[in-house]
This record gives sequence, C-alpha cells and structure tokens, in this order.
Amino acid sequence: MRHEPRIVAGVEVFPLCDAVGPMGGDVRRPLPELFPGGVHEDAEWILHFHCYLLRDAAGRTVLVDTGVGPEDSPAASWAPAPGALGAELARVGVAPEEVDAVVLTHLHSDHASGAVVGGVPAFPNARHLLQRAEVDTAAEAVLDHVVRPLGERVQVVDGPAEVLPGIRVLHAPGHTPGHQVVRVGELTLTGDVVLHPVQLADPKVPYLYDADPEQAAATRVELLERARAENGLIATAHFAEPFTPVR
Ligand SMILES: [Zn+2]
Ligand SMILES: [Zn+2]
Repeated sequence: MRHEPRIVAGVEVFPLCDAVGPMGGDVRRPLPELFPGGVHEDAEWILHFHCYLLRDAAGRTVLVDTGVGPEDSPAASWAPAPGALGAELARVGVAPEEVDAVVLTHLHSDHASGAVVGGVPAFPNARHLLQRAEVDTAAEAVLDHVVRPLGERVQVVDGPAEVLPGIRVLHAPGHTPGHQVVRVGELTLTGDVVLHPVQLADPKVPYLYDADPEQAAATRVELLERARAENGLIATAHFAEPFTPVR
C-alpha cells in the first residue's frame, strides 16, 4: 500500500509499506490475547509492516528497519507476505547502494530480515546502527543471519547517538533489551515501542511478545508523554496509517 511522505525539521520521511496482513504460524493469536486489557473493536490484527526512508537536505539517506525480507527469510513462517522493501525504495527513487545508514530498531525477524539477503548485505554502503544491548542478547541464529554477514558495517552504539545531524537514536528498552527509536525534530519513529492504537488509549496495555512487559510499558509511557508535551508525531511500524499525531 502506498503512503504519503512528510517533511519534518527539513528531513523528508517516506513510509515504505513492506507488507500488510495478519500474523500467521505459531505467533497468531486473537487481538485480546496479544494486547490484554485493551479495548478491541476487531478480533484479528491486520498489521502493516513499515520501514521508513529519511532523506536530509544534503540528500543523505537513513533507512529505518528493513522489513520481513524475502521468501526464505526467518519471518516467512509467520509474516503475511514477502517484503516489498526493494520495490518501495525504488518507488521513492533510492537505490540500495545509495543508502548511507540503516537503523535497526531491534532484531526481530520482521524488522531486520531485509538487511541481509542470500547471505549478502542488501545495503552495501551503509553503516548499520544497533544498540549494544540488542547485539549482546541476540540469539545465535540472528547473529548468523544478520549481524555477522554485515561485518564491519555494524556500528554498535550504547544509548543516544547521532546518525546524521538532526537525526538520532535513543535506547528504548522493553520490547527487546536493546530496542531503539529514531528522533527527527518532533517526530519519533517508534519501532515496536508502540504496536497498536489501543496502546495510545492506554500506554500500559502490554503486548504478548514484549520481552520485559513492565520495562516496555514504562518506555511507552515516557515516549508518549514526551510526544504529547511537544505536540509531536509518531511514525509506527505496524499501524495502518504510518503517521499519528500525539495530542
Ligand atoms: Zn502500510
Ligand atoms: Zn518486535
């Protein structure tokens, strides 16, 4: 599905819709089980899987997350479709070789699987930012599939770090130990800190697959309170609409 870009603090932000559909396989559950305590209108969650391409005034590009990956990706057992990231990037006029930096919000298979395809880095000229805590707690299979093939392209950071002037990452743990978000002006790209709109109504609503639900809730409350205080905007990975004002 095609989504419109926005300009925030002089940076173009293109949503890239990698896939749309329900979860399948072992992780499929009714919405009330996935988000216990939330008020749900639907029984099933139809997720979008969004990556984002940021382009600053100098034309430098940052890709935030790399989606579910191809047909043989680790996400293929449960994702609704192979990832369309390559086609989406082409649609906005960016070749994989032109991506200057990749931020992996975390190493779940629907966010990191497009980074390495067929054992080869998909964005060969990009450094790939990961939080130290994410690398340190990653499963061997994930290290083998994503982190090790990237080799020296991996840039491990510990806490806040600048990606480009005006674009930075912040450690936002809970969903995973080393989850990070991206900040541009008053925009926060949330990754999986906020997964479903029921968590805007009540940020304490947990997600079944949060690694540390209490920590995840604390991070979510803090992120949304700050966004609300600055009349900000969030760009989520799994909402149907990429951008959501927080008021
Ligand atoms: Zn979408
Ligand atoms: Zn996740």
